[in-house]
Amino acid sequence: MSDRQRITTEDRERLVAALREYGSYHVAAGLLGRTRGSVQTLASRMGAVAGDRARRDSWTPDEDAQAIAMAAGRRHTLPDIATALDRSPDAVAARLIVLVGTRAVADLPLPPMPDVAARKSPPSERERDDRKKPRTPTTGRKERKCLLCGNLFMSDSIGNRVCLECKRSDDWISPPVDVYLRPTCHV
Ligand SMILES: [Zn+2]
Repeated sequence: MSDRQRITTEDRERLVAALREYGSYHVAAGLLGRTRGSVQTLASRMGAVAGDRARRDSWTPDEDAQAIAMAAGRRHTLPDIATALDRSPDAVAARLIVLVGTRAVADLPLPPMPDVAARKSPPSERERDDRKKPRTPTTGRKERKCLLCGNLFMSDSIGNRVCLECKRSDDWISPPVDVYLRPTCHV
């Protein structure tokens, strides 16, 4: 779909569903096959905004390295990486563009397009129960899953997501070269 094409009602519904599901202009743009700018303009005209999560503190070197490592395999979607880092997908996209370039971010796999019809139905009993549960604290010292090996380890803070063993591994010390050599200007 080109950006000059007319915007159909279905496009609008898909945009709203994608924004609601992933809270991300980048993801919505990918799913609709449009540019992020056009999606953002359309969304603001419709009064739909991507929910942005609160964390805006600056990125630690650990978080940068984790984001780069997760993006390098091109197996994780933006929302996956965002969940792992407890940041919004668009914050992750913006940071990754700085770290590895626009092209590398565009190459990330997309999550599935949410089913527009299904989303209109009322939440199931299980979903309602989930909403009642208090959220567990996400920052501070606690056991976390290592982003690279998946094992649980005692992590000092939200920014510490890779276990010591993985940090000693060769891949961590010198990540795959192509991560750093990707061009950032030719989109
Ligand atoms: Zn590990």
